[in-house]
Amino acid sequence: MSICRTGCATKDHDSYADCLIAANVTVSATAVSPLKSMYEKTKTDLTAYGSARRNGIQPEGTTVEKVRQAETASRALGRPYNANVDPPASMIVNKNAARFVNATD
Ligand SMILES: [Zn+2]
Repeated sequence: MSICRTGCATKDHDSYADCLIAANVTVSATAVSPLKSMYEKTKTDLTAYGSARRNGIQPEGTTVEKVRQAETASRALGRPYNANVDPPASMIVNKNAARFVNATD
């Protein structure tokens, strides 16, 4: 007579506890992967954000998209973009827009 759970895939465990532990390991490994990709995304975002901050740029947010917009705005402005005082970075996409922003400083 098997001591394993009904849903056990291998049915080769020495105790019901071993069976549960094996099942949990399988569940965790599956559950970890979306978290891991979220973690990798966050890590990428924070790396880009940290790099921008070291250059004196203040993006509107910590996502790569916001950081890239802030970097583009900084290049157009000829100075580090600052979300606290500048208009949305998505508006500062060329030198003409940048000139207007700099003139109203
Ligand atoms: Zn089992």
